[in-house]
Amino acid sequence: MNANQLPSLWDEAYASTLDPVGELVYRSNLLGSDPRITNFGGGNTSAKVTETDPLTGEPVEVLWVKGSGGDLGTMKRAGLASLYQDRVTGLESRYRSGTHEDEVVGLYNHCTFNLNPTACSIDTPLHAFIPRRHVDHLHADSIISIAAAEDSERLTQEIFEGEVGWVPWKRPGFELGLMLRDLYESNQSLKGAVMGSHGFICWADTAHECYELTLSLINRAIAYLEERTPPRVHLAVRAPEPWTEHLPVLRGKVAHEGKRLIAHVDNSSEVLEFLANPDRDRLARLGTSCPDHFLRTKIRPLVLDGFDRLDEQLISYRAEYATYYDRCRRPDSPAMRNPNPSVVLVGGHGMVTFGKTKHEAKVTSEFYRRAIEVMRGAEALTRYTALPEQEAFDIEYWLLEEAKLKRMPPEKELSRQVAVITGAAQGIGLATAKRLARDGACVVLLDLNREKLDEAVASISEMAPHQVLGVATDVTDTAALEGAFAAATREFGGVDLCVVNAGNARRGTVADTSDQDYQLLSDLLMKAYFTTMRAATRIMIRQGTGGSIVVVGSKNAVAVGSNAAIYSAAKSFELHLMRTAASDLAKHGIRCNAVNPDAVLQGSGIWSDAWREQTAASLGISIDELPEYYRKRSMLGVTVEPDHIAEAIAWLSSEQRSSRTTGATVPVDGGVREGFLR
Ligand SMILES: [Zn+2]
Repeated sequence: MNANQLPSLWDEAYASTLDPVGELVYRSNLLGSDPRITNFGGGNTSAKVTETDPLTGEPVEVLWVKGSGGDLGTMKRAGLASLYQDRVTGLESRYRSGTHEDEVVGLYNHCTFNLNPTACSIDTPLHAFIPRRHVDHLHADSIISIAAAEDSERLTQEIFEGEVGWVPWKRPGFELGLMLRDLYESNQSLKGAVMGSHGFICWADTAHECYELTLSLINRAIAYLEERTPPRVHLAVRAPEPWTEHLPVLRGKVAHEGKRLIAHVDNSSEVLEFLANPDRDRLARLGTSCPDHFLRTKIRPLVLDGFDRLDEQLISYRAEYATYYDRCRRPDSPAMRNPNPSVVLVGGHGMVTFGKTKHEAKVTSEFYRRAIEVMRGAEALTRYTALPEQEAFDIEYWLLEEAKLKRMPPEKELSRQVAVITGAAQGIGLATAKRLARDGACVVLLDLNREKLDEAVASISEMAPHQVLGVATDVTDTAALEGAFAAATREFGGVDLCVVNAGNARRGTVADTSDQDYQLLSDLLMKAYFTTMRAATRIMIRQGTGGSIVVVGSKNAVAVGSNAAIYSAAKSFELHLMRTAASDLAKHGIRCNAVNPDAVLQGSGIWSDAWREQTAASLGISIDELPEYYRKRSMLGVTVEPDHIAEAIAWLSSEQRSSRTTGATVPVDGGVREGFLR
């Protein structure tokens, strides 16, 4: 078999152990896990199963169909809606065609079988009106290439030799379901249909047959396209990469009404090949073709050849978007959303996509990648065509989608923000990274200890997937540190929050501190605090959307610690550096604050064996007695843990909660009189 052909992965021995709904889940997962079969979150599958009606105890036909939202590849039983088949088809008597499409959607809930809480999707009638047991509706690039090509109907006839019908573009819904039923009734030997500018649908009597039919139709399309598409051109990125310098600027400019976005960069050879295509501008203007895409990709991307005329090009993009909105809006359309592009193509360099979260930015990127493949395929056949503008608008501003957006859980406090935390693999740094990630921030963890860093990243990504990046970095190496900030920028688009925390400690009086210890403390607690703040604030200034720096100081910054001369002096330097930054950078909306912890022993790298031993010795107690000693020393009689520091850092990082605070130092020490600020 040709390597590009999809192999059948059906395991009949396994499938035969499943009940009909389990078999539908199995088929859906197999289909949804290959992006050549369908795009992320796109397409749906169904099975009509005879069940016992809980109301009558009689057998009844139930339509099990993928519910609204979710993804076929990972869908479980709970992702399926179940409806009385005859009630859905019976809605035809209530249906008023034309603009009343949305009215009927409210009635689907009344067709629910057995109180299943999963909401059904607007594609439900596509499945209900095909009178066959199993139906797949998918968005395979290869078939969308045919669906979006000029002369799509003739191509469908030729490629599938009359076995597959064709329907013109119609927004998914009841009307489309009726069109497909009419097509089926006009020729019951058809195995499926290509849906103009959208995808395809096919049907069979068993789950296995339906799966194999889906693969065979896609494989026929792949083979036909392969013979006609020019060979791929492999391209590499043009150096130097512009992301570090220009991405924060772009990210700042596409923020809307104070709401930042998270970026995702794709500079794969496939994207570069599209950018080098002489027809690129014509194709990009046409917009993506699959209806799933519009909400995310917008009608068209912004295409740049460089960043020098960025302002001008964004102004004209926004103006064009507003004109499109005005031209197409309906009396009840939702208000215009962010008029900035969510997809930006940069000739020679790649594609940047934006979303509220990293996951959303990645999905948008994936959607545009699919669009590039579809354009390539359709152009090889005839010419790529787009949906009429009004149709595209009606999808982008669909009231049902707007309702879905409004039903989404409220955004987390630090959502849309990127935080860099130094010394993040343990102790205060790790607790802070976890806390900021939990509050919705994308977190970039910097640490010298690669092993601990990997563990920290793994534990955060379990809790907040897509939201974490670890960069093993020696923060005292300025080039490496700047490289880490560049990596953060490349991954998420910029930096909004920075927690300057990486530190260490050495005992010693002025009289007995060695040059070596002085250098270590000076590099780590003074130079690296400065270079970290410099790297972060330079990015924040480029973004122009403000930001927050939190410096982790120490009680020793205020109260002289005995036998810790350089450590205490360096901690004092940090606080004053923070104040100068707060003063100088306020005009950029950058807030700078500090927390002063004391005696945070848990998970701390500073409280290494030597420091512990020396501290215990100087206090005349054993190492085991240290926690109790510090607890008693605090005025509140409490132990201070990393989570307590993280809480104060989270507050200082939050624009909602501490927007009026800059230049401040918050002690988190359980109350130490000598540490009072005055
Ligand atoms: Zn679809």
